[in-house]
Amino acid sequence: MIKAEQRQIVWIELYLAVVKCCEVDYLGSNRVVASTSGEAEQVKGGGAVTLGDDPRHATITLTKNYFEDDASKYDNNGYGQNIYVWFDILGHEVKHLDHIAESGNKLSYVVKFFGAYMKMGHDNVPEEKEADLCRNRFNDFYNHVSKIYGVDSFKKLFSEKADKEIIQTIDLWWNDFKNIK
Ligand SMILES: [Zn+2]
Repeated sequence: MIKAEQRQIVWIELYLAVVKCCEVDYLGSNRVVASTSGEAEQVKGGGAVTLGDDPRHATITLTKNYFEDDASKYDNNGYGQNIYVWFDILGHEVKHLDHIAESGNKLSYVVKFFGAYMKMGHDNVPEEKEADLCRNRFNDFYNHVSKIYGVDSFKKLFSEKADKEIIQTIDLWWNDFKNIK
């Protein structure tokens, strides 16, 4: 069972510390919260948005289905215990911390972002493409770990070990992954 508090901070910190995809380390007090809206999106798998004026204190908001432990809820999109989908979406979202850092403040980040959306449409926004590269890197890493250490390695690690041991183990896996690249 994955503990609720692991979802709040530990996963982002872990992501930034180990599976490095940002230009600099933004270890600080970034947090994950559940969205109070987005009912229509939840049953289709949901989504996330990352906002803030400081890349060390940003908020990643995910739709509520990410916090639902019963996998059958939200039309089989209850992801509360699904370590893979959490890391997959965080892989994308943490890259936006770089974009917050580049833009300097929340307002210009949002304006730039929505301006770009309107001009180019979602898939062609450069920031989105960059974020997806980071997500793809996590997927390569995940596949590597599943192949070498077994399909349920991530799940077992998070449900059986303490935070410190989780970080040490992922660090080992990550170094191993980097060496074969
Ligand atoms: Zn994005």
